[in-house]
Order: sequence, then C-alpha cells, then structure tokens
Amino acid sequence: MVATAPGPAFEPASNRCDWCSGALTLTRLRRRPIRQDHLPGCREYELAARVIEYAVGLKAAVSATSVRTGDYREWRKYSARAIKDLIRAACRPSVREQLSELSFQYGHDAARESDGAPTGANQAASMLSLACQALLTGKDPVSAQALKAPEGGTTRHV
Ligand SMILES: [Zn+2]
Repeated sequence: MVATAPGPAFEPASNRCDWCSGALTLTRLRRRPIRQDHLPGCREYELAARVIEYAVGLKAAVSATSVRTGDYREWRKYSARAIKDLIRAACRPSVREQLSELSFQYGHDAARESDGAPTGANQAASMLSLACQALLTGKDPVSAQALKAPEGGTTRHV
C-alpha cells in the first residue's frame, strides 16, 4: 500500500474502468489487471485476465524454443515486444479498445513486405492479429491458431 501521498478522493476519469467505473489503482500500481479494482462480473476485467493468460502462454512458447537464428529470431523479438504491449493493454481502462488497436497494428505488420516468403516478424504479427481477434470475440486465442514459431523452431502448446 502507498503510505506517502494522500490518496486522491477521485481517480481521474481516464483511470477508471470503462465497463464498471472501478478505479484502476492497484492495476496501475502492480502493472497487472487486479480483480479488486473491478466490480464482480466486469467484462473488461474478464477480457484483461484472458489477455494476460494469452501473454503468459506466448511467453512460455517463446522461451521453450531453442532455435536462436534467422526467422525465429525475428519471430521471438516481435513476440517479446507484443507480450509487453498486451500486458500494458490489459491494464488500460478500455482493454477492448487497446486490443482492437493492437489487432489492427498486427494485421498491418503481417501484410508488410509479403512479396516473398513471410518473415518471422510477419508470422508473429499474423499469429498475434488472429489471437487479438479471438480474444475480442470471446474465443480461445490458442485454438484459433496454435502458438507457432517459424520453420526450424519447436513449439510448445500451452
Ligand atoms: Zn471493470
């Protein structure tokens, strides 16, 4: 608990959950979605928890692969950055809105430089775009497309 600064009587509107209006005080403090900040059954919190679950699974898939070269390196680098973006998105007042933006960005990156064979980054972006769409529509992001590293990499299902 923060003992220093006196707690503000009102959290700024931008720091309140979009769905239940709960102040995201603990969420901001711990940089993780925290259930106590939300009313029971809050849809934003439920989505945030699923985003974190996916991010944790992706992190495990990234570290389970032993290959460290070529496309896989790109895939890994892109995925590692996405994990941070997903966790940040899960802590925002509107997780849904942030996730939509990320989904758009990943879709854009997946299509980039797709003249030849897709690069590791293209593949990661494509996977992430599908995962975001699955999360937004209440589907299982892992079964929507199994977490998959490019050729040469081994994958671990979560
Ligand atoms: Zn909420």
